Amino acid sequence: MISVFDILGLILTFILIVIGIILFIAAIFIAYSAKTKKVIFPGFILFVLDFLYYPLKTLTEKLGFRKGYIDILSNDMKNFVNYKGLSKIPFNERILLLPQCLRKMDCPATLSSLRGFECIKCGKCEIGDLINFCDGLDLQVFIIPGGSFVKKIIKLTKPKAIIGVGCHIELREGSLVLDYLKVPGRGISLEKDGCIETKVDYEKIKKALLIKED
Ligand code: SF4
Repeated sequence: MISVFDILGLILTFILIVIGIILFIAAIFIAYSAKTKKVIFPGFILFVLDFLYYPLKTLTEKLGFRKGYIDILSNDMKNFVNYKGLSKIPFNERILLLPQCLRKMDCPATLSSLRGFECIKCGKCEIGDLINFCDGLDLQVFIIPGGSFVKKIIKLTKPKAIIGVGCHIELREGSLVLDYLKVPGRGISLEKDGCIETKVDYEKIKKALLIKED
């Protein structure tokens, strides 16, 4: 006679097999996309990455993938999905959010409770030049002291699109904010993360800011 435990065991095995098959298919799509630079079924990949976020995060870290691999992969997929939406938003209705850790240690910027750090373009880091570039596009830039500041900036500016720079954790948080607001955006990963004097590819930011309809 089949016991309740046998039935539960069968159900669990079935669920694990289904998850395994879904993961296998997603892995093939991801590998194909990475190899050909053509993303296929991004919606499906994103669904799998979101649905199995914590197990996949633990698994990839245990397998020796770089820290935040799943966040970065998910960010790349979201960037792909959002590309068209972002391209339709005029530059002056987009905002750029930069983490404060990109500044130099002896940055003379002061902190405004409304707008975050106010860069005086002292030339010690590349943020000043980037702000000049954004001024030319009539696009507002904010150097934010922490994730909680994002809400304030959004309330203040009501952007139609957000481009953000951050570590993998901030990119994940940022993508959840975009989903909630239902606005397109683009996440740019730091080249070197940490708490101070982090690094980013400024050309990558400029390229993202300039995305527009062909
Ligand atoms: S350029 Fe701006 S952000 Fe960079 S160190 Fe100077 S004041 Fe700070």
